[in-house]
Amino acid sequence: MGSAEAISRVANIVRKARENTLHSTPGVARRKVVVVVSAMSGVTNDLIRAAQSAVQGQDKVIDEVTQTLRQRHLDTAAALALDDSERRALEGKVEELLNHVHSLCRATAVLGECTPRGLDVISGLGERLSVRIVAAALRAQGLVAQAIEATELIVTDDCFGAASPLMEETQERVRTHLLPLVRGDVVPVITGFIGATANGMPTTLGRGGSDYAATILGACVDSDEIWIWSDVDGVMTADPRVVNEARTIDTLSYTEAAEFSYFGAQVIHPKTILPAVKDGIPLRILNSFNPAHPGTRIIVHPPPNGRVVKGITAIKQVSEITVEGRGMIGIPGIAARVFAAVAQEQVSVLMISQSSSEQSICFVVPRDAAARTLQALERAFQYDILRHNVERVSSQDDVAILAIVGERMRGTVGIAARLFSALAEQGINILTIAQGSSEYSISLVISADQVDSAVRAVHATFDLGKSGHKEN
Ligand code: ASP
Ligand code: MG
Repeated sequence: MGSAEAISRVANIVRKARENTLHSTPGVARRKVVVVVSAMSGVTNDLIRAAQSAVQGQDKVIDEVTQTLRQRHLDTAAALALDDSERRALEGKVEELLNHVHSLCRATAVLGECTPRGLDVISGLGERLSVRIVAAALRAQGLVAQAIEATELIVTDDCFGAASPLMEETQERVRTHLLPLVRGDVVPVITGFIGATANGMPTTLGRGGSDYAATILGACVDSDEIWIWSDVDGVMTADPRVVNEARTIDTLSYTEAAEFSYFGAQVIHPKTILPAVKDGIPLRILNSFNPAHPGTRIIVHPPPNGRVVKGITAIKQVSEITVEGRGMIGIPGIAARVFAAVAQEQVSVLMISQSSSEQSICFVVPRDAAARTLQALERAFQYDILRHNVERVSSQDDVAILAIVGERMRGTVGIAARLFSALAEQGINILTIAQGSSEYSISLVISADQVDSAVRAVHATFDLGKSGHKEN
């Protein structure tokens, strides 16, 4: 939510969803709606910046950021055509919460450090501000709405910064605190992103965690559907900025959706899908700028749409790390040591491949983690390098991953051949190939400067464009 205008759009969406005039469910007069919102756009980043400046003792930055945030939220409230008492109450709450941010940052400056636990308190304030504004905007549209902090509802472990929900406890809180409101026809407007441990310590679910909060709560209220509002018309066959003919994919299975997000289609985080999968609750990815567009539905068994390959994704800004040496042949434990060293650096590995001659292991990591990954490997293998069992640990930085995704690729012959031919025709060299045994995706590493033309060529080969409805 970027502005008062965006918040009014949210209010319209909620009203229509309740009246069942948006993506209507047949035979239903009115729906019950639970709303989960993230902070206004950029606010979480600002809060994190304020906390970081506090650590460095930059009091001026703390003052500036808090003042900017205060003004932004007050301006938004002012632009919402609220009645006087509503506006005054909202302004009071905004002041209170931002004073709180300010004193938390001051305390951080005094301590000179910000623990993950402290950062969760500060970074979660954007949602506590935005729920109040959205609830007021809904009431201005005649709905009975109530702002709720998910610290009351979502019970998590104490992994601050990326907490996981404890579903049973959360379910119980939802049953006692949330369902009575829903039954009473109140529209709850709940903070995304945040939760709390069983003894009330505030946590966050990780960046972008509002979607996750929505699926957690959606599962706990046993909802008919969970709608995730983004700023694109659902999951696309490819990045529309790269491929003109890219179009929205109507339906995906949970597995396909997870595969897409894993390979960089930033529409939904893989773990966001999990709470919905368990009960088979359909998810929809919709566009708040274009609410009537049906977007993408994510369900257990999508009807076959004639397409084996559903779409193509690319991950840029990655590096390929190679560990090679003839001394690795037939020696057990090399891979375990490689990945233990990488894990110790907290680097997540995007793709792995080992030639069956065992002379090299290569894997792909985010580019900003490449340098420390290399150092960790050089440390871990220093004696093997001295003895020339491991010849080289190297990194190639100008690469990208391209992946094709589709559940029906499993058992379909010839898909890889067509993929490789399409790339060969463009003169594109493939550095590494990986296909999981689940066969839901094939991923390859190619040179970064060829990735856009590769995506276009593959998109055309599998006829994924706007006009194409043939079997691919
Ligand atoms: N506001 C949080 C963030 O920026 C959560 C979200 O937007 O989903 O990470
Ligand atoms: Mg988001």
